[in-house]
Amino acid sequence: MSTCVEETAFSKTKETTRIVIIGAGASGIAAATKLLEQGFKNVQLFEAEDRIGGRINTVTFGNSFVDLGAQWCHGEEGNVVYEKVKDLDVLDRPGEYTIYFVRSNKEILSNEQTNVFKEFMGKFDVNPDCEGSVGDALTESYWKEMNTQSILNDKSIIKEALDFLKRRICSENACDSVSELSPRNYLNFQESGGDQNLSWRQKGYKKFLSVLLKSNEDQPGDHGILKGKVHLNRRIAEINWSGNGEITLRCWNGQIFSADHVICTVSLGVLKEKHPKLFVPALPADKVSSIKGLKLGTVNKFFLEFEVQPLPEKMMGIACLWLEEDLKELRGSKFFWLESICGFHRVDRQPLLLEGWIIGAHARYIETLSEEKVLEGLLWLFRKFLSFSVPYPKSFLRSQWHSNPNFRGSYSCYPTYADELRTGRTDLGSPLVDVSGRPRVQFAGEAKSRTHFSTVHGATETGWREADRLNEFYKGRAEN
Ligand SMILES: Cc1cc2nc3c(=O)[nH]c(=O)nc-3n(C[C@H](O)[C@H](O)[C@H](O)COP(=O)(O)OP(=O)(O)OC[C@H]3O[C@@H](n4cnc5c(N)ncnc54)[C@H](O)[C@@H]3O)c2cc1C
Repeated sequence: MSTCVEETAFSKTKETTRIVIIGAGASGIAAATKLLEQGFKNVQLFEAEDRIGGRINTVTFGNSFVDLGAQWCHGEEGNVVYEKVKDLDVLDRPGEYTIYFVRSNKEILSNEQTNVFKEFMGKFDVNPDCEGSVGDALTESYWKEMNTQSILNDKSIIKEALDFLKRRICSENACDSVSELSPRNYLNFQESGGDQNLSWRQKGYKKFLSVLLKSNEDQPGDHGILKGKVHLNRRIAEINWSGNGEITLRCWNGQIFSADHVICTVSLGVLKEKHPKLFVPALPADKVSSIKGLKLGTVNKFFLEFEVQPLPEKMMGIACLWLEEDLKELRGSKFFWLESICGFHRVDRQPLLLEGWIIGAHARYIETLSEEKVLEGLLWLFRKFLSFSVPYPKSFLRSQWHSNPNFRGSYSCYPTYADELRTGRTDLGSPLVDVSGRPRVQFAGEAKSRTHFSTVHGATETGWREADRLNEFYKGRAEN
């Protein structure tokens, strides 16, 4: 029996083998387009949403587009997104960016004071032999530095700025608190050199997808070289990988599909919630441990559109610093969640917009509130921090990444809990293979990147990695 199954599996070629990719985000699209380039013929993508892109979600707002998910290409050297588009003249370099540090009593810190904090942030890093959490490392090196800064003689400002820096680190690393963040998040991530915030010249991050797909980004529904291979509104409810033969997939509507290989790109949040039912038989213990140990944090965005420019010309954005007594009062009020907003900034080439970020548990909480309630809070925040009035916005938009069952969060991080479980991204990204080493169920997506997690370039690399794995396996087989 097993000989027969092996013969069947081994008789497949790039022409005949059936590959199903679950999820049409950056990693799924990267895997599918690469597989076609490599000569695989039967590649199908099943996507739960009614659109492609996943956590790349460029939508119309203001006078062009905004990104509810990925927004910037982070870096140039060793960044596959940058490499792919660098000759197309589609990216803008960030301009001069003046963020004002504003206190909850409306006081604006001087440039000299602000620069002390910005310089600290620019050089803060985690030492390889650091013990404890990123929060421990931050607090220690922060106070060491601040004690040498004579320009800052007001200890309360230093404390307020530390709270802000913590929120900033949480938003960059998608953790609820710096105390839960493992130093591995810093030590394993390899930053790509060059500009970190390259933007997509009013086209949004979907431009990158259209480059991968060779499609027209202005034509919704154009799937380019994946035409006819992308199946939207098809949430996969079960992946049956029992035995050694074909894999059976069940869609939410009862449809059944068969495949020889499955590349699963669903987010870590979806894996956390669904893996016991999604995989039959259950996943191996090391995989389950990595799903439990790693975290998909929540970071959400707001966009407000105004009739007139809401901030003075020179003010590109504000960082919110809470006075201790104001924070105490805030925590007892219905607007307690405003504490987790880092600040607001302008949007490139859209001067009538303001964009804000909120992190962690409060980001998840306000996903349950109505738009009106959230907007009421934001307008209160403007009144609290700014000495001038910000007009009522013309329109409002926000992301809700956690409550969407197809994501359950924004991007992944290493909490110290993953260290305790001695698990990580290699366990999460490793394929399920048969006795002969043939990949059966493979895993791609940002959380499965060892060095570029939480980014689009990391997700893309993992899609290519899994396509290469199959290509390697089929190398040298007769194409007939
Ligand atoms: C607010 C925010 C800001 C960000 N900013 C940046 C940034 O500026 N720069 C950057 O590089 N990165 C950024 N990121 C991260 C980046 O967006 C992600 O790392 C990347 O897009 C993830 O791609 P992926 O393919 O791994 O996953 P996803 O994009 O999540 O793709 C997985 C797909 O699987 C689908 N799916 C889920 N369950 C099922 C199922 N059962 N059956 C079928 N389909 C299913 C989902 O609908 C989804 O489309 C940001 C993310 C967020 C949320």
